[in-house]
Amino acid sequence: MVSWRRLPGLFPTMLFLVSTANIFLVFYVKNVIQELKKESHGYLEVHPPSFSHENAVIERLEHLEMYMHNISANSMKKPSHNERMKQKEDDIKLPEESKGEMHQAEKAKEEDKMKKEKKVVHRKLFPDSRLFKRWGADLTEEQQTTAQDLFTKYGYNVYLSDRLPLDRPIPDTRYPSCKEKKYSHDLPTLSVILIFMNEAMSIILRAITSIINRTPSHLLKEIVLVDDYSSNEALKGNLDEQIKNYNAKHPGLLKIVRHQKREGLTQARISGWEASTADVVAILDAHIEVNVGWAEPILSRIKEDRTVIISPVFDNVRFDDFELLEYAVAADGFDWALWCLYEPLPREWYELKDETAPVRSPSIMGILAAHRVFLGEIGVLDGGMHIYGGENVELGLRVWQCGGQIEVLPCSRVAHLERAHKPYLLDFSIAVRRNALRVAEVWMDDYKYMVYFAWNLPVENPGIDYGDVSSRKELRKKLNCKSFDWYIKNVYPNLIPLTTIVGYGTMKNTLNENICIDQGPVPGNTPIMYGCHAYSPQHLFYLSTGEMYIGGLRSRQNTVDRCLTDPGTGDLPFIEQCNEAVKKGLNMHWDFKQGSSVMNKKTRRCLEIVKDNPSSPDRLVMQNCSGQKWNVQHTVKDWGKRSALR
Ligand code: UDP
Ligand code: MN
Repeated sequence: MVSWRRLPGLFPTMLFLVSTANIFLVFYVKNVIQELKKESHGYLEVHPPSFSHENAVIERLEHLEMYMHNISANSMKKPSHNERMKQKEDDIKLPEESKGEMHQAEKAKEEDKMKKEKKVVHRKLFPDSRLFKRWGADLTEEQQTTAQDLFTKYGYNVYLSDRLPLDRPIPDTRYPSCKEKKYSHDLPTLSVILIFMNEAMSIILRAITSIINRTPSHLLKEIVLVDDYSSNEALKGNLDEQIKNYNAKHPGLLKIVRHQKREGLTQARISGWEASTADVVAILDAHIEVNVGWAEPILSRIKEDRTVIISPVFDNVRFDDFELLEYAVAADGFDWALWCLYEPLPREWYELKDETAPVRSPSIMGILAAHRVFLGEIGVLDGGMHIYGGENVELGLRVWQCGGQIEVLPCSRVAHLERAHKPYLLDFSIAVRRNALRVAEVWMDDYKYMVYFAWNLPVENPGIDYGDVSSRKELRKKLNCKSFDWYIKNVYPNLIPLTTIVGYGTMKNTLNENICIDQGPVPGNTPIMYGCHAYSPQHLFYLSTGEMYIGGLRSRQNTVDRCLTDPGTGDLPFIEQCNEAVKKGLNMHWDFKQGSSVMNKKTRRCLEIVKDNPSSPDRLVMQNCSGQKWNVQHTVKDWGKRSALR
């Protein structure tokens, strides 16, 4: 997962450099969950990928497309690989229309040819392409070129997708207890909405096939396709033809809605909801394969309670070899930048000792199922969101604050194809940041400042047009929704507001304003001075209580921030996880005012810069105070004293 989506602004050279450095992933395992975070490094030297036992936040990894395998250890026993591989998939029939774009005979001929060619070692035309890291060693040069072109266009392996059966079996990743669960025959009906913008035809057809084969036919009322103004020709006439074929077999099952301009994924989901007619809607990406028994738990839960918004559990289909990676069940949350992330399962869930029990979740990742009318009553989704992002957290907050609930259902599993890159957007962070401000302004009351802090934006005049939010504010009023303060205390206590932030952003010394304090290499504990780029490794937060956080904002119970400390000896400052620093009694409190020195309250030494000789770069050191002055990018009054937070 590349983390440049998180980086504000687009400064091509820097972006490239930072992206290169950002490929290093930091792992952290704690208690029940293994989380992976894309860590951005300000320090641009290349270090080997390495593991660290700190800093576990999963940021908004394109909803689901994470290079992570999220394992809940403790009481969750996953079926063994063999057990899963033995899983019979013989309930899946192969409908005539699901035979793919390539004629069977042609396919056999090609496979034969490939087998013969296997012995020949082909020159690797794209040694640096992520497509060929694990896959494609047998391909001829011509095939490699075709596969690479398709990969560039779609972000996943369309060459392989076109050659896999549309009704391919996938491992049943449910807990054994889910497989034993019985559901009533009499459940609400279901509309499945698949939204797409320039997805590959075989991918869309495989999604449709999986839905038809793995949803009880008496419950599946319709599949609504929403084309968000794809430019891909194949998705026009050809797709209409395919729809006709399906409908000849299953009258009225498939519908298509086509946008006349690109409206973004939120609006595509809304259009699908508008066109749907069943009791329940499941709004999915078009690059999914639903797994066995995915629908019954959803329909049964919504039958019990129409105010529950549901997320299935996602497994990950790898973008290159289409293998399915099982993900552990987790709750869906977010950080203060509103990137989504996985949260450990709540203790109350474990206490139930029922693996099939719904998991109360603060938010959703994007894909959702809901009672169609109830979803309308609470305002569907915020159509003012642009392109990508934000809509999931907006729904999460709205549902909880306005009287609904969100649950992840462990027995409902959907395999989601990851992408190596998104063909429709180069820099996600611009859309995500803008959409995050919409969410903050409508739903977060004074806690909205945390979002500004996390994105390193000034609270006054951030210079971002987040559009008109008046109708969403009216909706909030009309529904008589609770405050964000209620939400954070009752639904998401894991997310920690920092009510004492008084300064944030980059930190410059007046002796040299081209360089900024930077967290330095990660893993590692030595902050450095580095050319200013203002991405998260250079985000610093100064609290009125004296702590100075470096390297972005984490602020969740299980992913604590990193604090600047003075070891008291030697000439280097040291960064330690703040909770550890407290435990170890490190010197972690600082005196600082805009334009003055940064002095450790205990040691009375100052954070300063020195040159070892006139031509060497500035180093960040701890030494006796010589009167050096520092400025932090943004200052703010003690915002936590505002009344809304109490
Ligand atoms: N999509 C869309 N319009 C857009 C961008 C995306 O309809 O402008 C669709 C896309 O084809 C996919 C879904 O929205 O089916 C979610 O997008 P994506 O899978 O890229 O997001 P992710 O799952 O990575 O969060
Ligand atoms: Mn997706």
